[in-house]
Order: sequence, then C-alpha cells, then structure tokens
Amino acid sequence: MSDLKVYNSLTRTKEVFIPLIPGHVGMYVCGPTVYSDVHLGNCRTFISFDIIYRYLRYLGYKVRYVRNITDAGHLEGDRDEGDDKFSKKARLEQLEPMEIVQKYTLGFHKVMQLFNTLPPTIEPTATGHITEQIRMTQQIIDNGYGYVVNGTVYFDVEKYNKEKPYGILTNRKLEDLLEGTRELGGQDEKRGRLDFALWIKAGPEHLMQWPSPWGMGFPGWHIECSAMSEKYLGKQFDIHGGGMDLAATHHTNEIAQSEACYHTSPVRYWLHTNMLTVNGVRMSKSAGNGFLPEELFSGSHRLLEKAYSPMNVRFFMLQTHYRSTLDFSNEALQAAEKGLKRLWEAYELLVGFKWTEPAHGKSIDKELDARVRKLVNEFDENMNDDFNTAKVLASMFELVPVINSIKDKTITVSNLSKETLELLQAKFKSYLEDVFGLKSVNETDNNKLQGVMQLLIDIRKEAKSKKDFVTSDKIRNQLSKLGIMVKDEKDGSINWTIE
Ligand code: AMP
Ligand code: ZN
Repeated sequence: MSDLKVYNSLTRTKEVFIPLIPGHVGMYVCGPTVYSDVHLGNCRTFISFDIIYRYLRYLGYKVRYVRNITDAGHLEGDRDEGDDKFSKKARLEQLEPMEIVQKYTLGFHKVMQLFNTLPPTIEPTATGHITEQIRMTQQIIDNGYGYVVNGTVYFDVEKYNKEKPYGILTNRKLEDLLEGTRELGGQDEKRGRLDFALWIKAGPEHLMQWPSPWGMGFPGWHIECSAMSEKYLGKQFDIHGGGMDLAATHHTNEIAQSEACYHTSPVRYWLHTNMLTVNGVRMSKSAGNGFLPEELFSGSHRLLEKAYSPMNVRFFMLQTHYRSTLDFSNEALQAAEKGLKRLWEAYELLVGFKWTEPAHGKSIDKELDARVRKLVNEFDENMNDDFNTAKVLASMFELVPVINSIKDKTITVSNLSKETLELLQAKFKSYLEDVFGLKSVNETDNNKLQGVMQLLIDIRKEAKSKKDFVTSDKIRNQLSKLGIMVKDEKDGSINWTIE
C-alpha cells in the first residue's frame, strides 16, 4: 500500500489511495473540445493531471491513462439547444467539421508537447465511439431512466433521484438544484428541468450526424465520457479528473448515467483541478479573457510585457497547489522565471558534484546532513499529501543555498555523507525531470531567438508595406525551411511557431 493520499471530491476528504488492482491505476481525464484552440486555463488542468500521471508512475504504478478528445456533440446553449459548435466553426472557417477537428487536435497536441506533457496511453474520440454511446443510451432507456421525445433521448433526473442522490458529487439536494434552474419553456420537450440529452435529433444544419434507433442524430456531451471510460477502464475505475467547472453538470451526469446503466458508481476517486484566473476572473473561451499558449511563447498578447518559455509557464503552475486558484500576471510569471533559473542552475551544479572522503581529521556535519535528508524526504511526503507540488518546490528552494555553499566552497561535499549527497542528486533529478517534467531551458538563447524573430518580423512588415514582396516572401520561406512558421493573423498581428 502506498502512502499516497488524494483529495476525493466525492467524499470531500483526503483518502489513502488504494487502486482496484494492486500496482495498476486506471485514470480518465476529460479532454479538450476541439472546435477551437485550447487556452492557458485548459492547459493548467492538463498539466496538473500530467503531474499526477507522472507521480503515479514514479511510485511504480502501471497507469492506463485515458484522455478523450471531444469532437462532436457540443451545443452552444447550456440546455441541449442551439447551434452545434463544430458545424458552426466549420461554416465560419469554410472547412469540413472533421477538418476543424483535425486542425485543433493537432494544435492541442503541439501545445501539450511544448509543455512537455506525456501523451495519454489511450486518446479516444467521441466520433470514434458512436456505437458505444448508442448502446449505453439504449441500456439507460431499457433500465427505465431514459425517454424519447421526437428523436431526442433524455435522462430522467427526477426519477433517478428517487433511488440515488443525483447531486452527490457537489453535495447538493435536488430541490436546491431545481431552484437554481430555469423554468421549463413552452417548447421544452423535457419532463423535468434538470433532464439532459443523451442523444440529440439532428436537423439539416447539423453537419455531423449518425443513424440511431431514434433517427439521425448525434450524442450528447456527457454520454461520451461514460461510454469511453467504461470501454477502456471498466464499469468502475480508480481516478476520474477534470476541471472543477465540470463537477456540477458534466461529472454529475456521468455518475448518473453509469449508475442508471450498470448500477455501479463509476469512479472511486474524483479529482478536480482549480481554475486559472485573470484578474480574479476565470479564464474561459466565453469570457474572452483566454490567453493562447502561443501568445505567451511569442509575447504577442497585449497584456504581456515579454515572452515566456513553456517551461517557465509550467513552473509557474507548479508553484501553486492544483486545488487552489492561480491568478495569471506578468509579475507572477517573472518571479517564476527567476525561480526556475535559480533552481535549475543549482540542479546543474548539483549533478556535477562528486563525493570525496573527508580530509584527515574532518568528519561529516551531522546537523547539516540531517537537515538535507529531512528536506529531501519532504519531496515524497508532500507529493503523497495530495500532490502538493508547491511544498516540494519550497523544500527544493531551501536546499539551493546548501548547493550554492558547496559551489562557493563555504562547505564541501564531504560535509555530507555519501548516501545523503547521492540521495539529494537522485531526488532532484527524479523530481525536476521525471515528476515535474521540466527541461533545461536556456533562457538566454530563448530571449535571443525572440529578439531575432521580432527583428525579422519587423523587416518583413516594412518590406510588405513597400510592396517588396520578394523580400517578405524570402523571409517567410527561409524561416519555413528552418521549421519556423510565420502566420499573418486576421487582426493584423503576426505570430510565429516552431514546428
Ligand atoms: P473544455 O475544452 O472547455 O471542455 O475544457 C477542457 C478542460 O479545461 C476541462 O477539464 C475544464 O475544466 C478545464 N478548464 C477550463 N477553463 C479552465 C480554467 N480557467 N482553469 C483551469 N482549467 C480550466
Ligand atoms: Zn468528460
């Protein structure tokens, strides 16, 4: 049994983590909806689960990590009505819906790679699992919790709640939930205000639709995660994750669907990450306060004072516990940049140290040795306490002066025991590289590259304004050959990315 404790949203307590199958962990994380670019808030959630995945592996678990791609079934309205977001975007960009899906899936993968997140072991798509979703919907109808109205299938929340508490995940009673919901409209086909669609009848405007026992249609959003998690992880599995904003509806409905279909609570540990905010407001597509990762890496967003490398941003996120909100600001990013530099420089010194026997008549400094050991042991202790990366980093920063003192020769490697020095070296490496997924960042080179790119972009702009297309094309084409793509945005700004 491991010493890992996780905060389970379902029980609202920290619990000892015991997987269903010893040595193995099944983990499902709700993935992105690929009708647009992911913003930094989405990235925070995916990076948090990357750390969790990495730590479970560090503990020796074999993890089956499933993170889906939502590529169908997202409607504009929050009441199973309105335009299908994929169809709408396809019309807007004059592309096929599956071209939209491909474009934003590739973009998502690239961003995840830049942040050095490990890919999930399975990445299923909603469109690839229509049969499974239809089958599950049918079973829910057969079990008496679903009803069909005019080609759409709804989940009967009030009926379900008579047997099982619908609001269990957020600890709310049905009456309170009903109070907070809009009245049933005259046109509404639903029996109850909280009922949600399992399958939605398609109109001609819906470009993505499939045949089903209820006519042409497409799946509702929630059924996708229930069907795919069951397929790859079973009727009950260890960990389900996502942002906190998903708990009240999406995850609540996932529990209801699985219970209605299989009579089992699907998930043992529900893990929810807190939100990335900008001036205290949650970053979201709809609030229009979303930063694109690319805008950070190039420094092109109007609110940014400079560019920040992906590792800098990743480190910035690690400094806060995943269940606390994190506010985005230039100051915080700059502080993180300095912190990472200090830590990484110490790490590079540390790996170069070689222990030697104390000189004649000298011995190890027992007090220092014990302090170093204690701080190193705190790494695992804090990660075992619901993945507290912030506290691990605090312990690491306490060790930096010790490392620097060895460099400055105020103390020597022989002041530590051989075991302690080697433990310190090994744990720093495992944590910084394997668990935190940080990579060496040569900030100086990065800043130089940013500067050179800005210069080239300015020259190209000037050339274009003088109608000197030979020069402007030359810059673009040469950069493209080097794998640097320059993109002219509709709003006149210019972005660049390294392929
Ligand atoms: P979406 O593509 O909108 O379904 O979101 C993908 C993931 O990002 C979900 O797990 C959301 O909960 C999460 N998410 C959305 N906004 C934020 C935010 N501001 N901070 C952290 N996570 C977020
Ligand atoms: Zn989901």
